Amino acid sequence: DIPIIFIITPTYYRLVQKAELTRMANTLRLVKQLHWIIVEDFEVINLKTKELFQSSGVSFTYFAQTKRKTTKNHIRGADQRNAALDLIMAIHNPSIPAVIYFADDDNTYSLEIFEQMRYTKKLSMWPVGLSGGRTYETPIIKDGKVIKFLAWNSEKRKFPIDMAGFALNAKVLWTYNPMRFSTDADAGMLETKLLERCCTVEEIEPLADNCSKVLVWHTRTQKPTIYIFDNSLEV
Ligand code: UDP
Ligand code: MN
Repeated sequence: DIPIIFIITPTYYRLVQKAELTRMANTLRLVKQLHWIIVEDFEVINLKTKELFQSSGVSFTYFAQTKRKTTKNHIRGADQRNAALDLIMAIHNPSIPAVIYFADDDNTYSLEIFEQMRYTKKLSMWPVGLSGGRTYETPIIKDGKVIKFLAWNSEKRKFPIDMAGFALNAKVLWTYNPMRFSTDADAGMLETKLLERCCTVEEIEPLADNCSKVLVWHTRTQKPTIYIFDNSLEV
């Protein structure tokens, strides 16, 4: 059997939320052996949102997780992603091959990247388009190995890569426990601090044809300007 892909998506209520999640569901429904973990950044889940997931046909778990009060910086999505990692450790048998991918609800994902990340041995990486104030951020590969990065703040970050640009073999959760995001990290240090817990740069497995192709994009949705609020229909 092919490895399972666990997709972890923190999400929160705003006018574009349903549109974002609909678009994402339409992508994920085309990927087999996938389990989508959606974590609502709130006290309770939204039943309308749950219906959206149900009708998509994607295998999913949807639950709510508020920001944990003990953390000082409240990095957006960090507590939600950590709760999803807790869930994977609770429901998954680590002897079954699986990978973990942190997929924000507003990004754009090619189908190709899922099939490539599926076989991640430990940590795989690839370029992310429209990220870090550049056309793309990427590891630079020489003889099949990562030698450096073209990315924002690459001097100060050991793994200067966006959340959308890597996948982890699920086994690392058990081997390097606790593999969790530090919720008091400075903004922009979230990814590197997690990966530093389990991996070295030498271990990175470059995907997307040796990081020569952009297969995911850090797109961001513009906040809509609304002049007339009509709540008769759910948006
Ligand atoms: N997010 C969240 N709570 C928040 C803000 C963001 O759960 O208060 C989620 C959001 O839905 C997305 C992820 O965290 O899936 C990253 O947020 P965003 O896309 O706004 O970050 P950016 O694009 O600026 O990196
Ligand atoms: Mn985003």
